[in-house]
Amino acid sequence: MSRPKVFVTRKFPAVGLERISSSFDADIWEGELPPSREELLKRIQGCSGVLTMLSEKVDDEFFDAAGDQLKVVSQYAVGYNNIDVESAKRRGIAVGNTPGALTNATADLAFALLIAAARRITEAHDYIHDGKWKAWEPLGHIGWDLEGQTVGIVGMGRIGQTFAKRCHGGWGMNVLYTARSPKPDAEQELAAKRVSFEELLEQSDFVSVHCDLNEETKGMFDAAAFKRMKSDAIFINTARGSIHVQPDLIDALKSGQIGAAGLDVTDPEPPSVDDEILHLPNCVVAPHIGSATRSTRDAMANIAVDNLEAGIAGKPLRCSVT
Ligand code: NAP
Repeated sequence: MSRPKVFVTRKFPAVGLERISSSFDADIWEGELPPSREELLKRIQGCSGVLTMLSEKVDDEFFDAAGDQLKVVSQYAVGYNNIDVESAKRRGIAVGNTPGALTNATADLAFALLIAAARRITEAHDYIHDGKWKAWEPLGHIGWDLEGQTVGIVGMGRIGQTFAKRCHGGWGMNVLYTARSPKPDAEQELAAKRVSFEELLEQSDFVSVHCDLNEETKGMFDAAAFKRMKSDAIFINTARGSIHVQPDLIDALKSGQIGAAGLDVTDPEPPSVDDEILHLPNCVVAPHIGSATRSTRDAMANIAVDNLEAGIAGKPLRCSVT
């Protein structure tokens, strides 16, 4: 009996690839970069399942190209803003993602960016490499204190709450948050206070974005939002680049409207090498590496393959978004 055909849009951890190759007629894209749209639409024809990354736009054109036998799209990420979930639902195609597995790693990265921005690590690193370090400097590279500051968390979900635990438990920070619904556990355990978006902007020393990208959150950090923030506030975004309006962020960083930023996500992503966001001394940028630890990526691979197998077998997915 022929095995179900699946397409995997990028190489990912061996633990997942081995499972896929042993169960399915697997076509694995070997390129360092994602397949072109044309190539993607060609490769998914006749597939029962497709394992996608956030680089693939999964829309009506994608579903039409795959054909009626497509049963599941398994996303190798927790965010799935690249997928038209309503269209998948209408067509009876299951959609899976990998929540939870990457929570700690992404919260850690947000904290790494906060410390790097606060202590001006990349600026100091460049200073040495530019041959400017001549002696210990009593007035050089003065940064921000973390202990006891107020952190504002936009999107108090899995990653937001985990980041809040580090801020509150490790550095004694006061925690403010916004979310669509109250989070009584966080309020009790972390003394976190739910406030309006405007209050959060005005009162926080550090603002960290952890909401998903949706109609409400797209562009929510624009010129008006940065204007409300403290002039020495630090802005951290490890969620999605288009939650901030990048030209407005650049203006805010250049004009001193805010103090510094740490980004794991940009808009566009990736930015071109001459994009101004990469050349500001007060902005630390990482190439979307929130989940990039060994055990995290392996755990994500196992969830994604579980989702793929269940979807093709017509069973409920381990982690479903439909
Ligand atoms: P989650 O548990 O679903 O948390 C998302 C939170 O956003 C929820 O608490 C939700 O509120 C809140 N939210 C949604 N719309 C909002 C709005 N308009 N205003 C305020 N809060 C809003 O998801 P997660 O696992 O923590 O992941 C969060 C996001 O991080 C993902 O969607 C993904 O885009 C990003 N991410 C990035 C990386 C990376 O590599 N940089 C890695 C993993 C995830 P309610 O709870 O009230 O609904």
